[in-house]
Amino acid sequence: MILKKKFIELAGVYSSKLLPMHIMLELTNKCNCKCIHCYIEKEQLFFLPVSKIKILFDSLKKMGCFKITFTGGEFFEHPDYFDIIRLTEEFGFIYTIFSNGFSVDESLLKYLNKSTLFRSFHLSIYGISDKTNDMITATPGSLKKLMSTIELLKKYNLEFILKTALMKPNFNEWEDVMNFCSKNRYTHAFEFMLFPSETGKTHPMKYALDKNELVKINSIFRDKYKKKLYLKVNRDREAFLNEKICVAGKNKLAVSYRGDVFPCLLLRKPAGNIFNDKIEDIWYNSNWLKELRNVRNRDIQGCGSCDKIEYCKFKCPGISQLFYGTIYRRPESRCLIADIKESNMKNYESPEFTKYLSVADLTEAPIFDPGASNVSEGINLTLNVADCAEAKTATDYINQNLYCVEESTGI
Ligand code: SF4
Ligand code: SF4
Repeated sequence: MILKKKFIELAGVYSSKLLPMHIMLELTNKCNCKCIHCYIEKEQLFFLPVSKIKILFDSLKKMGCFKITFTGGEFFEHPDYFDIIRLTEEFGFIYTIFSNGFSVDESLLKYLNKSTLFRSFHLSIYGISDKTNDMITATPGSLKKLMSTIELLKKYNLEFILKTALMKPNFNEWEDVMNFCSKNRYTHAFEFMLFPSETGKTHPMKYALDKNELVKINSIFRDKYKKKLYLKVNRDREAFLNEKICVAGKNKLAVSYRGDVFPCLLLRKPAGNIFNDKIEDIWYNSNWLKELRNVRNRDIQGCGSCDKIEYCKFKCPGISQLFYGTIYRRPESRCLIADIKESNMKNYESPEFTKYLSVADLTEAPIFDPGASNVSEGINLTLNVADCAEAKTATDYINQNLYCVEESTGI
């Protein structure tokens, strides 16, 4: 627990000193599932070579980085994933692995069981019926494979979190997924956002929930499950508008399967490429990163005059970039969530509501959540958790240092 607290504090220090603390590495765009909402393009396959990763790690270590998140495509589809994990251990980074859980390697799990640096797996679960899960992954047997993976992770005593991207095809099954996780005491979070593909194709968006569906989910949480989900922030308007936007490029970076260096995996506007540039040069000299680090909330078109800032979790510049090709326009999908929160908040001015704020200590602690609008200055933050029925869960959520688990059920 002390370590976790330190971790959170460190995030603030790294942001304020502009040091890269956390890197997300997309090892490959190859995947063994074909999820209908996937934003990664796969016409041509790429794999980051171990030799390049070694050079990258060497520089990152010198720059103070200490956390790596591996993602894809699918982590286990990189032919050298085991070597990459050994390398990560040699350099002493702590690390997390995102996977679809379709085909894991038991020998790696055995290895991770002995690791003091490995943190957790993040696995996707879309439904609790084969029909739904397999329809979304477009891969027969995906749910059964995921369930086997979960059993293996338990066997090797490895931490994991299950995440559900909510969309039209699983709209009728989200409660079952939530109840399954709750019954088994699995950590679980919902994600509400779907994104255009990395090159701007909009096909994933046809599965996105509309306002009526979001409101319905909200009502079910409130009325059926009696969840106290509404974390509103009492913000000083001027201070909020002066805050800098998220931590992308401030204490975190991402490297794509092509070697492109992005401020964040969602903010896919490159600052350089590791095949052409040294990561140090990119981090310290990129004009794009310098620009991004100075953007404040008031610079986002529409936010300056917004009357819902108390309900706005974050104005993800990555979403704006993907949707509109610029970070300077408000992401309307976020505004919609703020709008729903505001209309429902009226029912929730209750002692229970404030309890969540105080237990999670959200009003003071700088939290390592890239969705937070300003980690370095420790301003008030909102937080949405997958299961807020107990405040403990909110604390767990923070302690897991999740990266942009999107608006979960807190709409
Ligand atoms: S709700 Fe929309 S306009 Fe308002 S602060 Fe958030 S992103 Fe900006
Ligand atoms: S808000 Fe989060 S997901 Fe969006 S660009 Fe910033 S760090 Fe990335």
